[in-house]
Amino acid sequence: MKDIIEIRNVTKNYPNMTAVQDVSFSVQEGEVFGILGPNGAGKTTTLEMVEGLKPIDAGSIIVDGLSITSHNQEVKSRIGVQLQSSAFFDGLTLVELLEMFGAMYGREVDAPALLAKVQLTEKSDSMVKELSGGQKQRFSIATALVNDPKILFLDEPTTGLDPQARRNLWDLISEINRTGTTIVLTTHYMDEAEVLCDRIAIMDHANLVALDTTENLLKDSRLVSGIQFRTEPALTADAFKQLPGVRGASGEDGLIHLASGTVEETLPALFELARTGDYTILDLQVKQPTLEDLFLTLTGHALRD
Ligand code: ADP
Repeated sequence: MKDIIEIRNVTKNYPNMTAVQDVSFSVQEGEVFGILGPNGAGKTTTLEMVEGLKPIDAGSIIVDGLSITSHNQEVKSRIGVQLQSSAFFDGLTLVELLEMFGAMYGREVDAPALLAKVQLTEKSDSMVKELSGGQKQRFSIATALVNDPKILFLDEPTTGLDPQARRNLWDLISEINRTGTTIVLTTHYMDEAEVLCDRIAIMDHANLVALDTTENLLKDSRLVSGIQFRTEPALTADAFKQLPGVRGASGEDGLIHLASGTVEETLPALFELARTGDYTILDLQVKQPTLEDLFLTLTGHALRD
């Protein structure tokens, strides 16, 4: 399969920090590619450089055979970027907005067909402020499709949506991909990446820490187990990082989560620690491993820390 995006040794510095550090990866034509990582990992900055919205400080990016640096406008005409809905003008209907976006590309837009594609036909004459959160997200995807792009970029498309609206959006994204559009999305939800993506790049602290097919990453994650519990009195995750077998530890609301490569070593050591430390272990569960556990083993901390 052909690489439609090639990112080579790309770095982005802000005055006080490096947001993206020497990152390289390729996206293949026709795939759904996910960039996964916690807030601040550098996902949006990476995406914005590929979209030609932010200059790169080092390295190179080729999109559909064109350098983003020397062919910025040509690249922009071939891609679709989902805008956040707050950026839309008030006072125009959905149909009028789509026609306006089309005009920006010098194109006639079949607004009713685009609205049907994102299941908003009945809202054609409504304004954006009259839409629900999920409908707004679907509409912003429609605006990104006005130029019939080869690649569609979605930045955290389901953040803030309820579970039903998230599922609807997943269906829409899969449907758009089925018709041949390459999709690059960022997310900090493991389940989203698992459902949608053919391949996943995992970023943490400006670096790429893993890149593989979703299937292989899931296989890798099965090599670890998730151990979850509370303690009385409550302790922080740091207290358990040194236990044998533990490859990452995180805590949220008093619930400790350990990723362990050898449960048979970790559990006895955990009980021994509790006995000598004079605390009680509550609600202990050993769980089916998830991509979240893999993230913990790769980075030592949780996705939502
Ligand atoms: P993510 O999308 O993974 O949450 P971002 O790419 O938005 O991460 O941000 C990466 C890091 O760069 C963060 O620490 C963020 O605060 C910083 N950052 C992003 N944009 C700017 C900017 N315009 N100026 C300074 N720092 C920025």
